[in-house]
Amino acid sequence: MHKYGGSSVASPERIIHVAERVKAAWAQGPLAVVVSAMGDTTDDLLALLRQVAHDPPAREVDLLLAAGEQISAALLAAALQERGVPARALLGWQAGFATDAVHRKARIRDVDPARVQAILAEGAVPVVAGFQGLHAGEITTLGRGGSDTTAVALAAALGCARCEIYSDVDGVYTADPRVVPDARRLAVLSYEEMMEMAHMGAQVLQIRAVELAEARRLTIVARSTFAGGPGTEIREVDPTESEMSVRGVAHDRNIAKVTIRGVPDRPGFAHRLFAALAGHSVNVDTIVQSAPRDGCSDIVFTVAREDLPRTVEVAGQAAAEVGADASAEQDVAMVSAVGAGMVTRPGVAAAMFGALAEAGINIEAITTSEIKISCLIRERDVEAAVRAVHAAFGLGQAKA
Ligand code: ADP
Ligand code: ASP
Ligand code: MG
Repeated sequence: MHKYGGSSVASPERIIHVAERVKAAWAQGPLAVVVSAMGDTTDDLLALLRQVAHDPPAREVDLLLAAGEQISAALLAAALQERGVPARALLGWQAGFATDAVHRKARIRDVDPARVQAILAEGAVPVVAGFQGLHAGEITTLGRGGSDTTAVALAAALGCARCEIYSDVDGVYTADPRVVPDARRLAVLSYEEMMEMAHMGAQVLQIRAVELAEARRLTIVARSTFAGGPGTEIREVDPTESEMSVRGVAHDRNIAKVTIRGVPDRPGFAHRLFAALAGHSVNVDTIVQSAPRDGCSDIVFTVAREDLPRTVEVAGQAAAEVGADASAEQDVAMVSAVGAGMVTRPGVAAAMFGALAEAGINIEAITTSEIKISCLIRERDVEAAVRAVHAAFGLGQAKA
């Protein structure tokens, strides 16, 4: 199984390059391919939609966005056939992808690979449009970056042991190489570490794809379409093999901070607020509640920026009911240090806070899990913060 992301199919020339690669791999054995939309197509389609509607219905958003992958799948299949490789482009539903009903963030419920298997049995290459499925006759999409999840789900349904995900980087790095020039490629990363990196903003793989790979015990290999090399394996890592320290630094600009001031110190409000947000499909991330003073406390939490309008509405209403005050800010970002076992190593948190302090960066909230420490900071500080934390843990010198 190969998956080619947006940058790999961004132009006709690149599609031809991918076709040549697929041809070479197909000559070695049967192969299924999943593709993303060309380049920035998904963003362009969203921008187009915003010009005609402020709050477009989710059903139509999905119908529109799915067109991006439809185009690249058809183009790649045509380029393959031109090169003597029998190939067939399939939309998500034609490839057997059934999802739940949540437009724009649908989860795969079932994959019936019969048609893909029939194409493989003919010796042809199925080229599947990623990022999309069907629920009760309606087109759904799987959330941004969702073609990764299509690829892993299809690989699992076909019984593949590996799923190779091709992009413009030759693996997963200790930090986003666009931000940290001396970031290093990691040879191996555990599912857990990769999930935390993805969750904390490293968009190189969609988090759902990594969750699914872990559940199905399938190895993901992140590789480059344009350069050779072994890439990064994401798989089960024996604890004795693990370095038990900070492996990478992730950052996320796609967050907004909501502050609720003056919440009366009695039971019920957190439940009322977060249940209402969950009811509106808003994923809440970091949550911090201050110690009560004068009978009131403050709650700070973060959400994805696209969820902010809904969040402000729901949180504003819940706050008003108890006489509290809700406000929101978008110019924030999160920087996280990730690594299995690091919480059991004393001094990791202190080293991270020290690096930020030395760079003159103020920390507005902190959250930790067993394998990560995250700091909420101002967005303008994010690149300096990533570089400072990366350097503090010596990751630029780390072995690949
Ligand atoms: P595709 O369009 O192929 O799906 P993405 O843009 O989703 O590719 O993912 C590749 C990009 O992820 C890279 O260009 C890189 O800038 C970014 N990225 C962020 N964090 C990391 C990281 N830790 N390692 C590698 N790439 C990263
Ligand atoms: N084209 C979709 C997106 O941009 C899916 C993907 O690229 O994986 O989010
Ligand atoms: Mg991607």
